[in-house]
Formats: sequence, structure tokens, C-alpha cells
Amino acid sequence: MADNQQQSKDVTGRSDLLSEEGKNSKTVLCQRCGSKVLCPGMAVFAEKELFLPSMRKKSGLSTTEGSVEGDTLTAHWFVDDMYTFENVGFTKDVGRIKYLICADCEIGPIGWHSLDDKKSFYVALERLTRAA
Ligand SMILES: [Zn+2]
Repeated sequence: MADNQQQSKDVTGRSDLLSEEGKNSKTVLCQRCGSKVLCPGMAVFAEKELFLPSMRKKSGLSTTEGSVEGDTLTAHWFVDDMYTFENVGFTKDVGRIKYLICADCEIGPIGWHSLDDKKSFYVALERLTRAA
């Protein structure tokens, strides 16, 4: 299993990722199982510093307590409604945060949601892939 492997994908080639409106130009997929997360044009590119624990199966996520290894990620797809996602699951609340996971293979976190803001959902570009 290489679930905790650091992904060092280049996310600076943004003109390739973004439409002219700053939305995702390609279908966004789960890196692990290829499940569809977002359809093209459904999410807006957002820069925000969010901490996401290292990728692992959901069973591992729900038992994490205290200090957690992970990454501070800054490049995300933002949507204001969870029904915009094609396929996404949530972890149990971690404080005031819910993490988003792949609904099919349950790998995550792929994204971040605050219970204090019901209209903001972020998924990290580095934790996802896109259709060719
Ligand atoms: Zn998946």
C-alpha cells in the first residue's frame, strides 16, 4: 500500500486546468480508483491554506486523534453546495471540520469542509487527478 506516499504533482500549470472563468476545465477524478468527483465547469479554483492529514483509508481517519501528520495545501477546487459533487463522502466531525473522502474507495481526505460555513467545500488539487 502506498496510500501515504507524498504526491508532488505540479499544480502550477494552471492554464491547462482552468477554464477562462477560473473553473475546472476537466473532469476531476479520484487518484486511486478513478471515481468521478466533479464534472467540468462545476468548481472554482481557490487558494486557501488548509491542513489535510495524510491520505489513508477512512477507518484510519476516524481514529486519528491529537497531532496528525499531513500537508498544508493551498490549491483547491471550491464549491458552495455538496450536491455539486458527483461522488464524495465525509468523515466524522473532527472538531468543527469534516474531511471529504472518495465515496467509492473511501481514501482521503481529498477535501475539507467547515461546519461553521455550510456553503464552502474544498477539494485539494494535489489529492485528485483529472481526465485526460
Ligand atoms: Zn476513489
